[in-house]
Amino acid sequence: MGSKIPLVDLDVLVVGCGIAGLTTAVACREKGFNVRVLESSAEFSHVGAGLMISSNASRVLCDMGLRESLDHVGIHMRRVVFMKHDDGTVLSDTRYSDDVEEKLGAPLWQIHRADLHDVLLAKAREIGVEIEMGVKVERFDWDAPSALMEGGTVAKADVILVADGYRSSARGELLGKYEEPRFSGNSAYRALIHRSEFENDPVLEPLMNVNNQTTYCWIGKGCHILGYPIRQGEFFNLVSTQPAKHTKGPKFVVPIDPSEFVDQYKDWDPKLVAILKKLPKENVLEWKLCDLEPMNSWIFPGGKIVLLGDASHAMLPSAAQGAGMGIEDGAAIAELLDRVTHREQIPVILKTFENLRLPRCTYIVDSGRQNAKKWHEKDAKGGTITDEMWEYDVKGAAREILLAGA
Ligand SMILES: Cc1cc2nc3c(=O)[nH]c(=O)nc-3n(C[C@H](O)[C@H](O)[C@H](O)COP(=O)(O)OP(=O)(O)OC[C@H]3O[C@@H](n4cnc5c(N)ncnc54)[C@H](O)[C@@H]3O)c2cc1C
Repeated sequence: MGSKIPLVDLDVLVVGCGIAGLTTAVACREKGFNVRVLESSAEFSHVGAGLMISSNASRVLCDMGLRESLDHVGIHMRRVVFMKHDDGTVLSDTRYSDDVEEKLGAPLWQIHRADLHDVLLAKAREIGVEIEMGVKVERFDWDAPSALMEGGTVAKADVILVADGYRSSARGELLGKYEEPRFSGNSAYRALIHRSEFENDPVLEPLMNVNNQTTYCWIGKGCHILGYPIRQGEFFNLVSTQPAKHTKGPKFVVPIDPSEFVDQYKDWDPKLVAILKKLPKENVLEWKLCDLEPMNSWIFPGGKIVLLGDASHAMLPSAAQGAGMGIEDGAAIAELLDRVTHREQIPVILKTFENLRLPRCTYIVDSGRQNAKKWHEKDAKGGTITDEMWEYDVKGAAREILLAGA
């Protein structure tokens, strides 16, 4: 059961069960709404790797009562070190002291996407979110509103929240034609190295320290690589960005031979090269890196269907906020729907959601592009990840914003 009795007993339909869709579903259910989620995959895959979940997003998850479960699978980030690509000279070293959580109001986690997804899914099931798998939404009736599924079934609701990811077909429907997201020209190689590979190695073993977790970032020469321990030190997570090789055209995620990863960085800092020599033989993936040009509006005509998460504001990983913004979106829309006093108000609520979220997400999409540019310069100077955004309290903002047109 949702924990609260809402002013209006809304039927909320969520499309897509990724991090954004699930957070939205949990947040809306906690407000007491009836929540149904439609997901096209028949089962959840565990693709993806480490994510940084900064305090702007972790505060939402903690408020959902997920602190303990996420502490169990996540690691608190304590330090970010930027280094020169070729010799590992430290360019900047940012330490987050013991009271960082007190200052920010919530933890800075490094966490595996699959672990975060599992925790949210368990919460959704516990509180009575209805999740239907293997159900692909083909298009929408904008006025009803309803979702038309493959096979002709129709799902009707008071409001439809669409989180169908960065290759969103719903976005194509809203814009009148489907367009692939903007290709950055770069790709990410992602891999997890098991901790046993670093054992008894005096140089590599200290990288796995989970009590003083450090995120290492080598930058310069048109590329960057991030590395940090995740899953309580079971794995070292590596993600690099370089010009795309296999992920041009229609290919978005492709398994690669790890030797290509090693080869790409063979002239870099010897410590990094030593790490790369420990790559597993399988499950090294190349991801095409794309983001979205800001949209003018995320709301469908009729005012009862809205895009959120990557579907409306996909960003480059160098923003380290894609999942974070999806989590904020979910909290914001739930908080705003909680202000509904009669069903006819839903278009005003969705417009208010857009007023609150579009400028912030647009700014962060741009920060992802700017970070990548700075970190790839020949004489890159180092820096931080986008920490000025971390103190933001999305639920407070959603409670305080004036309703559109008021
Ligand atoms: C290399 C890399 C590193 C990253 N690092 C970070 C980081 O450090 N921090 C951070 O916050 N973010 C990071 N991100 C971004 C983050 O992973 C994404 O922004 C986030 O997972 C997107 O979630 P989503 O729910 O919006 O979309 P998705 O995860 O894509 O979920 C969309 C869901 O909708 C379903 N679906 C699609 N079409 C339909 C349909 N027609 N009907 C029904 N269901 C449908 C899909 O099957 C899928 O389950 C990173 C991304 C990459 C690639």
